[in-house]
Amino acid sequence: MDYAENILGTIGNTPMVKMNALVKDVPALVLAKYETFNPGNSVKDRMALQMIEDAEADGRLQPGGTIIEGTSGNTGMGLALAAIIKGYKMVCVISDKQSKEKMDILRAVGSEVVVCPTNVEPEDPRSYYSVSKRLSTETPNSWYVNQYDNPSNAKAHYQSTGPEIWEQTEGKVTHFIVGVGTGGTISGVGKYLKEQNPNVKVWGVDTYGSVFKKYHETGVFDENEIYPYITEGIGEDILPENVNFDIIDGFTKVTDKDAAVYTRRLAKEEGMFLGNSAGSAIKGLLQLNEEGKFGPGDVVVVLFHDHGSRYVGKMFNDDWMRERGFLEEEITVAKDLIKN
Ligand code: PMP
Repeated sequence: MDYAENILGTIGNTPMVKMNALVKDVPALVLAKYETFNPGNSVKDRMALQMIEDAEADGRLQPGGTIIEGTSGNTGMGLALAAIIKGYKMVCVISDKQSKEKMDILRAVGSEVVVCPTNVEPEDPRSYYSVSKRLSTETPNSWYVNQYDNPSNAKAHYQSTGPEIWEQTEGKVTHFIVGVGTGGTISGVGKYLKEQNPNVKVWGVDTYGSVFKKYHETGVFDENEIYPYITEGIGEDILPENVNFDIIDGFTKVTDKDAAVYTRRLAKEEGMFLGNSAGSAIKGLLQLNEEGKFGPGDVVVVLFHDHGSRYVGKMFNDDWMRERGFLEEEITVAKDLIKN
């Protein structure tokens, strides 16, 4: 018989899928590392389990303890699944810009959800960074995960995601493109791939309103780069320790509108029903292609972090798109069709 001991045994070994329609102008083979096949429907299951196992191993997490994390939802989902199997309590501290679906899903898997305002400074006592830290000092037998600075985050991708991509491409991968939030995915995968072949190029996808691109290019943490944005999962107003800027060749920034439009296009043109950061990642890849970054014979891997079901009330909802002026092109195309 072939079965996993519990749901955690199904984490990883996700498929790689060739992209077609959306990348027809890219001269290279473009492959999507399709992370929604993890049990929590996101890549974050991998690092959630790794962070818990490392904390168990060195005693930071004790039997029956409470796990506390500031999470945009996906890490919380991964931690919640592991908490169920391993007998811990789970508290997710989440910012109010996150989708309602993400909050409901976290509650569905037994997590307590604490909602904090988005548009306050990280140092503000109401920010989700501050609230998570405070809860962890006030709650007995608790452990604050801190995915931003926790080295087990990038380690999970160094030990599982990176080797899978290398093996699935038979060592032929030439470029790796991925959205950057905590930096765990890009840093772990990028380090592994560059150790196998130093010529592999690693590109991060950033969002307008985030500090990464400017910091990578200038070494300056420029507060003028920081302003509110809609895109979920990527971009930061801090520099997490998990971002290893040395292994990143460059960043490209994608607008909120493009991220939303391309998330919809992935679903409609590739049958890939994915989350908001996948739209950013594929648009970032196409921007790099316009800059002539890829050639014939290249094997470009783009990683898609999470599933579209968490965004049905957002970019997959026409009213939501229209309210933000994100639907113009689709409307123009529709008008042209009617005219003809
Ligand atoms: N996309 C989504 C949907 C995410 O939840 C995250 C994690 N914040 C990312 C991208 C970025 O991944 P990482 O934190 O590993 O940089």
